[in-house]
Amino acid sequence: MGFVAEFNSLSVQTLLQRSLDVTADSVRKSLAKSKSSLTDFAHLISPAASEFLEILSRRSRQLTQQRFGKVIRLFAPLYLSNECVNNCLYCGFSRDNPILRVTLSLDEVKQEADALRERGFRNILLVAGEYPKFVSNDYLRDCIAALHPDWPGISLEVGPLETADYRPLVTAGADGLVIYQETYDRGIYAEMHTAGPKRNFDWRLETPERAYAAGFRRLGISPLYGLADWRYEAICAAAHANYLLRNCWKAALTISLPRLRPCAGEFQPLTRMSDRDMTQLVCAFRILFPDVGLVLSTRESPGLRDTLIPLGITLISAGSHTEPGGYTGAGREKLHQTVRGKIVELGALASPKLNSEGASEWAPPTSVGRASSSRNAGSVASPHQNLATNATGQFQIADERPSQEVADLIRRLGYEPVWKDWDTALTA
Ligand code: SF4
Repeated sequence: MGFVAEFNSLSVQTLLQRSLDVTADSVRKSLAKSKSSLTDFAHLISPAASEFLEILSRRSRQLTQQRFGKVIRLFAPLYLSNECVNNCLYCGFSRDNPILRVTLSLDEVKQEADALRERGFRNILLVAGEYPKFVSNDYLRDCIAALHPDWPGISLEVGPLETADYRPLVTAGADGLVIYQETYDRGIYAEMHTAGPKRNFDWRLETPERAYAAGFRRLGISPLYGLADWRYEAICAAAHANYLLRNCWKAALTISLPRLRPCAGEFQPLTRMSDRDMTQLVCAFRILFPDVGLVLSTRESPGLRDTLIPLGITLISAGSHTEPGGYTGAGREKLHQTVRGKIVELGALASPKLNSEGASEWAPPTSVGRASSSRNAGSVASPHQNLATNATGQFQIADERPSQEVADLIRRLGYEPVWKDWDTALTA
């Protein structure tokens, strides 16, 4: 049975209600167990368990150190393209957002990757919107093949593919696939995805299984917190992880914890998840899944990241940019808008596409030549010149510290920053 069938038979609402109603006594009983169930997890993320946060934190920290040692792995996202055929209301790259777009050439991808290598990274996450016209399977394969000799860890976060289409990407050197379900609530999923192939909920939900069948040895899943109720999403993600651990057991599994961030389109979160909720969730995931990697990105503030690192996080991004060309300015001269699949040169833009200051809808105006704005957004120098300095980012990051500063912080916390955790010789 695939996860879609298992998901359809899962009583998420019952578990959610249980989480909301559970007493402190039941939380204590769940905490006393050496092995937790999905019901225990629902107890551990409950409002009642919030009062036990110190105990949860201690348990989570201890389990993480036991299973992973005092190390934090680092990775960096490299955005290949911000073209997208989908409309996802919460995402800056949505098709209908009049943003500055670009797809990097192979040379530009290498240029960006070289900049990240110089900063110490050896694990890279290649990210692209879903638009086969601009981001074809062959293009992805060529990007991976070009980076493979220098990058022992290459993961992908791209539009879902068939198993047969994933195989050449694995052969070219990709070893990880990250796919956010965004929300496990079918109703909200339908409301959020108003156009494009991403509207197919089940197709997306089955993606990790197809990726596993194609040979990826790392799988990453997650909801995007801020759409449905966070406890509902967490219970579904835990059930999904549980399924993958049983059925895709040769792959190393990670669970990410992304919360919505400001982006083009100005979407506002539908639900709230506080920093305390986030902390409780990290601990509950760790207690339920002692061996699963937990990922925290630069969507979170420096203060929260520094607090969560010792509690259960095992993998973090640092110094990230969410726009193609963000690390070096690569592709700057090709910036354009895309209207109904057609590239529109900046000089040919109709005035409604730019605001009165000449900036893209979301981007703040900055001076020409600046590599990128602090919001990771695109920018345009003047309404007359149309001299964009960078493509528009997917979302605004919260932790803007350079990667070496984050690595120093990890050391100060008593952990070892790990830039490389695999060697291609091991897969040869
Ligand atoms: S979330 Fe992904 S699929 Fe949706 S608009 Fe953004 S890049 Fe495209």
